[in-house]
Amino acid sequence: MWQKDKDHFIHPFTDFSVFHEEGCELITDSDGIYVEDSRGNRFIDGIAGLWCVNVGHGRAEIGQAMADQATRMAYFSTFNNLSNAPAAELSAKLAELAPSHLNHVFYSCGGSTANDATIRLVHYYFNRLGKPNKKRIISRNNAYHGTTYLAATLTGIESNNWAFDTLDHLVTHLSEANCYRRPEGMSEAEYCDHLVEEFEDTVAEIGADNIAAFIAEPIMGAGGVLVAPTGYHKRMQAVCRANEILYIADEVVTGFGRLGHFFASEAVFETQPDIINCAKGLSSGYAPLGATLISDEIYEVLGTPQGKGGVLSTGFTYSGHPVSCAAALKSIEIIEREAICENVREVGPYLERQLKTLGHHATVGNVRGSHFMMCLENVADKDTKALLPVEARVGDRIAFEAQKRGLIIRPVGHLNVISPTLIWTRETVDTAVAILDEALSAATESLQRDGFL
Ligand code: PMP
Repeated sequence: MWQKDKDHFIHPFTDFSVFHEEGCELITDSDGIYVEDSRGNRFIDGIAGLWCVNVGHGRAEIGQAMADQATRMAYFSTFNNLSNAPAAELSAKLAELAPSHLNHVFYSCGGSTANDATIRLVHYYFNRLGKPNKKRIISRNNAYHGTTYLAATLTGIESNNWAFDTLDHLVTHLSEANCYRRPEGMSEAEYCDHLVEEFEDTVAEIGADNIAAFIAEPIMGAGGVLVAPTGYHKRMQAVCRANEILYIADEVVTGFGRLGHFFASEAVFETQPDIINCAKGLSSGYAPLGATLISDEIYEVLGTPQGKGGVLSTGFTYSGHPVSCAAALKSIEIIEREAICENVREVGPYLERQLKTLGHHATVGNVRGSHFMMCLENVADKDTKALLPVEARVGDRIAFEAQKRGLIIRPVGHLNVISPTLIWTRETVDTAVAILDEALSAATESLQRDGFL
């Protein structure tokens, strides 16, 4: 199996020079907070698969719901007025869980396709309103919105796109909100003013008549778990409102409990997005699924009122896939039944506090995030915040040492992300933080040995 994989599977986001030498690691089994590899090693999953297995692994009832649906009716089109029961039920459930003005759902296959489909719908919306010049989307540096062509253009992580092309005429990137690396001498409140002013200046420069939407993750995920200054999102939304710019919240990571609520936009950040995108935790990763939750106001224009009518000529073969929707319905049922959002609200602050105790390690410059979305930023010098050279592979070293001790965390360049399944208890936190403590000591030693520290 290892050889077949090495010879034929092109892995996403994988360093080929390393892969050609080492091949893959096969993850074969899973249960609750654990996953197991093909050699029988068991690990605590500190990244919920890839920020997605929110209800934890090995949920037989989700498997059963999918099997029941697959054997009864695995697939049929949802084009041309056709539908299926899980898609209809899930749509109503999402409308119930989302902020009250978001009552309409467009389905896709994951986060990238949700974002891609959203931008097409936004353009369609303005075209139908008779404002065809409103096309530009405002995103942010270090944002992650996916890897389909348009979603990759929205993404602002330079290292992702360095050798790919992007659709630059459609997207403008603002600065990311990075409190740790904000300009010297600026308070957090002043930094917030500065970021909002940058947005206002950009709108003035491009012209509101040419801008369709602003898209933002409530907490930037893959770009480094960046928590914006207090009030930032609300103020960015106010700029949107003043300029007829739609506010799109990419809740692919923050949705479905990771910050202690089904959706973070309204409950945590006091914003009322025109559109919320979700994927990942929507089905807890048991099946591919993405969804765009659309406001009543936008739906009025997309739908048939105002005498406009017309076919909405976009959608995927798998929009509203019955098996994926059945998985999502069961996952949501579990989140509600087991009070998983409440668990995150209870255990999340404890995880934050315990991770902050690791700040004494030589490399740990910043511990940040919120609830079950956390990150360590590793540096060479805590005062200057200078980074270690890329060859030191500090994130990889720490992740490797943690994995040796039974915990999987994610290296992202010089960062380490911790985004667990949402069923961790305080005891799991204690075990994970003890492992990380040892891993950080071991990584520091190896960095010293290799002359990087
Ligand atoms: N948006 C955000 C915020 C994400 O974190 C991701 C994936 N990590 C995506 C979109 C893309 O989702 P997918 O990989 O399912 O296409």
